[in-house]
Amino acid sequence: MSLKELKENLAYSCNILANEGHWDNILGHVSVRIPGQNKILMKPHSFGFEEIRPQHIIVVDIATGKKIDGKYERHSEVFIHTEIMKARPDVNCVVHSHPPYATVFGALGQKLRPISHEGNIFYEGLPTFDATTALIRTPELGVGVAKSLAKCRGVLMKNHGSTVVGESIEVATLYAVFLEKACRIHLLATASGDPSWTSDEESPVKFEQIYTPHRLGSMWDYFVRRARQARKRS
Ligand SMILES: [Zn+2]
Repeated sequence: MSLKELKENLAYSCNILANEGHWDNILGHVSVRIPGQNKILMKPHSFGFEEIRPQHIIVVDIATGKKIDGKYERHSEVFIHTEIMKARPDVNCVVHSHPPYATVFGALGQKLRPISHEGNIFYEGLPTFDATTALIRTPELGVGVAKSLAKCRGVLMKNHGSTVVGESIEVATLYAVFLEKACRIHLLATASGDPSWTSDEESPVKFEQIYTPHRLGSMWDYFVRRARQARKRS
């Protein structure tokens, strides 16, 4: 994928997150690894997710966390991205945001139960980073988030938000949207009664069945169409 296409997809990721429950004023950020380089493309500070277009995207050095190209300001929490990129060569995209249901869920210390389909994405675990509830403004704290995440697809950040990763912009964005839905469903179900959930044995089977590359591709294309419609309306 060319740099131009990566920037276009990163902008769509931000727009999709805005439309699908991750909007939080100008807060939250997404990054994508530039293939073959020790650099990431990243959403800049000072803009809402829905405002991002390819021309806003900045370039950051993974080794230092310093901005090396782009007009706009870098988010101070860049170290969430750079330290996860260093720790997880399999990860090419990091989504950090403050979605309300995942934030509430992360404050409760409960285990996420796969009550709807989406919960099965996190069958390998959904850890909680609790070393601080403040901003991740140092490489050391970024390392802490990466250690909490370990090999999982997402990590809750206590009294803060969530960070979700994937091998591509498409996958990480969809998993971030689905984490928020899984937390919403869990909270709704447990507030309403004593719910059932998919068993540990069935969970990986459902994950493999539902979240195939083909279906994820179609889901991404659908969200991009919705984002384009939202751009036209704005
Ligand atoms: Zn944050």
